[in-house]
Amino acid sequence: MYLDVIGYYELAELFGKTTAIVTPCKTATHRYMERKWLEALPAIQRYSVQGARLMAFSYRNFLVGGGALCYCSWTGEYAIINAGNMKLWEGSEKQCMEMTLLEMIDPDRFDRIVGFGVYGEEVQPDPSGHAPRTLHPCPLCRARMAADLRVARWTRIYTFRPWSVGDPPEERKNKYVREHMSFRQLQRLHS
Ligand SMILES: [Zn+2]
Repeated sequence: MYLDVIGYYELAELFGKTTAIVTPCKTATHRYMERKWLEALPAIQRYSVQGARLMAFSYRNFLVGGGALCYCSWTGEYAIINAGNMKLWEGSEKQCMEMTLLEMIDPDRFDRIVGFGVYGEEVQPDPSGHAPRTLHPCPLCRARMAADLRVARWTRIYTFRPWSVGDPPEERKNKYVREHMSFRQLQRLHS
């Protein structure tokens, strides 16, 4: 699902122009984009949960939803795109939410992924041996992200889940157990 702001192209259409005049804006620094990410975080959180509730399907009810904040360096626009995972039956090919996002985000439209939100109620052990407190992108998705030019080392990774009875009391003060790191930090944790 695309949550798109009105862009210069749409504005040009509204005013009856055939081509939009788009002057490349000064490329935002990653510090600036990280600020935008923090502003967008409440929305990323809601859209990630929505992805798990409405767009995910799993034969064993392992539902994961997520959202990505993307940036277009030509128009300076941001958009949030969300998706869910898909696993039809045991032994069927899995389609992770992260894979769907990477495929859905049009590289001609958005050339930078500022951050990913990942919401999964069930934490899975990672083959790397690192036991995360929240659900992290799987090794295959991490490899795809690393190979993707739109994902930077500083791209934010926000993973969260509702707390459960096994969690320490200090975790239960918040609605969610949260982890927030850069893509580089995520890779280091699992290296
Ligand atoms: Zn995956």
